[in-house]
Amino acid sequence: MRIAIIAHDGKKADMVTFLREHKDFLNNANLVSTGTTGKHAEKAGLKVNRLLSGPLGGDAQIAAMAAEKKLDLVIFFRDPLDKHPHEPDVQMLMRICDVHDIPLATNFATASLVLKGLS
Ligand code: PGA
Repeated sequence: MRIAIIAHDGKKADMVTFLREHKDFLNNANLVSTGTTGKHAEKAGLKVNRLLSGPLGGDAQIAAMAAEKKLDLVIFFRDPLDKHPHEPDVQMLMRICDVHDIPLATNFATASLVLKGLS
């Protein structure tokens, strides 16, 4: 499984909780992440290929991977209560996932159900 993980700042704590809960499964996957999310994932003990930080193009890099069918799942904990300078990239990533039918989990509950279904 090639899985991308991204969390907006307001959701990074949730992401760390999620990663810890699913560490065994995720350690057997190829993880790719945006920059800061990846740092948190590493601190939680996961091996992850870190790309650029989201606002610097990390979401766009992950969208490109999705467009090239290099991802099986995108877990993107969005913070709907905050503004993001890279909102166009966020929208593009979600659009590309829909264009290419890549599973996209945008909150904790959905991501939990998806991993439950996969394990
Ligand atoms: P970050 O990017 O992991 O580098 O903080 C996430 C985002 O805001 O898209």
